[in-house]
Order: sequence, then C-alpha cells, then structure tokens
Amino acid sequence: MPDSVKTSRSDRPVLIVGGGVAGLALGWRLLHAGRAVQLFERDRAGRGASWAAAGMLAPDAEIGFEDPELYRLNRESLRRWPAFAAALEAESGIGTGFRTGGAVHVAADRDEAEALRRRYDFMKAQGLDSRWLSPAEALDIEPFITSRPAAVMYSPSDSQVDSRALVEALQASFLKAGGTLREGTPVRAVEPDARTPAIITENGERVEGSCVVLATGAWSYGMEGLTADQRPPVRPVRGQMMELEVAPPFDLQHVVRSAHMCVVPKSGGRVLVGTTMEEMGFDARVTAGGLYTILEEARRIVPGIDDLPVRDIWAGLRPASRDHLPILGPSSAPGVVMTTGFYRHGMLLAPVASEEVAQYIFTGETSAWIAPFLPGRFEAVSA
Ligand SMILES: Cc1cc2nc3c(=O)[nH]c(=O)nc-3n(C[C@H](O)[C@H](O)[C@H](O)COP(=O)(O)OP(=O)(O)OC[C@H]3O[C@@H](n4cnc5c(N)ncnc54)[C@H](O)[C@@H]3O)c2cc1C
Repeated sequence: MPDSVKTSRSDRPVLIVGGGVAGLALGWRLLHAGRAVQLFERDRAGRGASWAAAGMLAPDAEIGFEDPELYRLNRESLRRWPAFAAALEAESGIGTGFRTGGAVHVAADRDEAEALRRRYDFMKAQGLDSRWLSPAEALDIEPFITSRPAAVMYSPSDSQVDSRALVEALQASFLKAGGTLREGTPVRAVEPDARTPAIITENGERVEGSCVVLATGAWSYGMEGLTADQRPPVRPVRGQMMELEVAPPFDLQHVVRSAHMCVVPKSGGRVLVGTTMEEMGFDARVTAGGLYTILEEARRIVPGIDDLPVRDIWAGLRPASRDHLPILGPSSAPGVVMTTGFYRHGMLLAPVASEEVAQYIFTGETSAWIAPFLPGRFEAVSA
C-alpha cells in the first residue's frame, strides 16, 4: 500500500459494529496500536452472547477431532490468555475472574465412557497433559462428583473466566484507551469501499471510516450493503444457563463436565449450570424444557446441585457459521473486515482473534493464525 494511502486511511477511525467480546477486544487492541476507534452497539455493550457465556476456556474439553485448525487456534488463544487477562485487569482495575485449575470430565454411563476414552487417547497422542482417574482418585480431587462415575478424566490446562466481568473490564479498558462507544445505535448497512468505507445507522446517519469491522455475533448475516455471497453465513444457536447459589456443605472446586453439560464454580458463592444447544432462530427465551434438560443432565455428574437455591436463569444466542468455524479477517467487500462466527468459543478465542485481526488492520497482512478462517471460504463454496 502506498504510504499516502496508509496515512490517510489511518486518520479516519476504524468503525466496529457490535459491542460483544469480539468487538470490544478488537477495539481495545486497535486503540493500543494507535488507531482511533468508534464502536456501534445497538443495545448495551456486552449484553449479547458474551453476557450469557459460562466462561470456560477449554480447548481440550471441546476438542473436535475433525477441526485441527480450530483446535490449534483454541490452544494458541489459551496460551495467550494469562497475558490478556493481566493487561486488561491492570488497565481497567476490574478482576476478570480468569483462573486455571483444570476440569474434571465425568462419564455417567458406558457410552459416555467410551467417548471420553477416545478423547483421552487423542489428547495423549497430541502430547497433552490429561489423566485417566479411577473413581477413588477422582473423588479425592473433586468430592462433589457422582460417587459412581463410569469413567473420569482430569484435564489440568482447562481454565475459566467470568464472562460478565470480562466484558466490563473490556469496556472500561476500551474507554480508558480513548475509544468512542456509541450504545443504543443500531447499524443498518455497510458501504464497502477500498478507500472510504462507511456505515449507515438505523436513523440514517452515515459515518466514514478507514475500515468497517463486523463483530455482530449471531446477527451478522442480517447486515445490509453486502452481496448475498459476502454476507457471513452465521445463524443463532440458543444456549440456556442457570445460576445457583452455593450453600454449605456444597463446595465444588473444579469445573465438572459431561459430554453435554457443565457445572462451573464461580467466585461470590455462585455456580453456573448449563447449557443447551438449540436451533430456535432468534428466540432467546428460557424454556421449561431447557431448564429440565440442564438439571437432569447436570445432577447426573454433580448430584449435590439438587439442594442449591436458584439465583438466575438466562439464554443467549451463539453465533454459528455454516462450518462452525470462526470468520476472521478481510472479506471480499472492500474495506470490510469480519470477526464473527465464534460459536461456542468466543471467550476462549478473544485474545488470539483480537490480536490477529488487529494485526491485519494495522499491516494489511493476514497471519497464519487467521488464514484458515477467512470470510472468502464461503464464497468459494457458493461459486
Ligand atoms: C449459554 C452460552 C454459554 C457459552 N459458554 C461459552 C464458554 O464457556 N466459553 C466460550 O469460549 N464461549 C462460550 N459461549 C460462546 C460465546 O458466548 C460467544 O462465542 C461470544 O460471546 C460471541 O461474542 P460476539 O462478540 O461475537 O457476540 P455477542 O456477544 O452476541 O455480541 C454481538 C453484539 O453485536 C450487537 N449487534 C448485532 N447487530 C448489530 C447492529 N446491526 N448494529 C449494532 N450492534 C449490533 C449485539 O447487540 C451484540 O451486543 C457461550 C454462549 C452461550 C450462549
């Protein structure tokens, strides 16, 4: 790129649409790289899927044998998490609840035990630290799991964060670093252009920037101004969660997971239980059936939750792309960059996605980390 173009592009702000973990983290990185950033959020920042997440940072637990590229990205992001959390906490003064401590994976029946064994063998083959435990060893590490597990694996590297504290820390850091946050401002359309891309808000305001970033989560497909091929094929996948109040003698120390459910101890005497995976369009309501499924499955692995008072229930919409992989980097629409499609891993992927997409915006170079996840892969398929 000629220097004159680079300079004039840098004078205008980067326009980010969507104030979830993806948009806030990217904005914060760009501000630190010296760019001006305006972020448009139609509601309040951080109240989409990012508010609903359990906050598990678990590349191994959610390892997909068929997605080696995503697995690599997930592991790299976990590696970057301690520095990411430390920098955010230092800037915002807000604790993110980031902690390591591992996860205990419990199989409640024979089928689940076989699936867990396959996962364990795969992890071992990758050289990862995971341990196959006898029931007695497992109960020693975590006394609140079921007393009759069919199989148990311990994965020491799994970590977690408090999702709501994280978005609050991100928002505070974004503002402190000089970002402009425009909440209550829905964006209707983007205007792609190599030199002066722009956004149009719902009430008709047009804002020009150096580049436009779609960080619009489950709503990404609906953005006007892109051709059908350029629109990121993202759909919502509902997840319901429940927050319980810890009451003695219940004192869970580890994240406990089954094939479909997790029980996650949090600070402040809370434990989160969830979650469901439902294709219900944009319906983000909590349902009786959803709560029933959560409780039925969770009490098989941690029966002690039965006696805990319910504090809160909610649902959120995961942004799932057509191939369930994130969508990162430049699109074929000139001046339009994407950071969306995070599906079940938006918290985990925040450090690596924000850093690598910011790097692209800054240098125009696509790193090896995001190369497998470029938006263009869907256009190639359609063509
Ligand atoms: C129940 C549940 C549990 C989960 N647990 C985990 C977990 O343990 N670990 C993990 O890593 N991930 C987890 N996830 C996934 C994670 O929450 C998501 O991947 C992540 O939050 C996506 O972040 P985002 O910023 O892309 O989307 P969002 O947080 O949804 O943010 C998108 C934002 O864009 C705004 N927006 C949309 N359209 C417009 C527009 N036109 N104009 C202006 N603003 C707009 C929305 O209002 C929203 O605030 C979970 C998700 C759910 C639902």
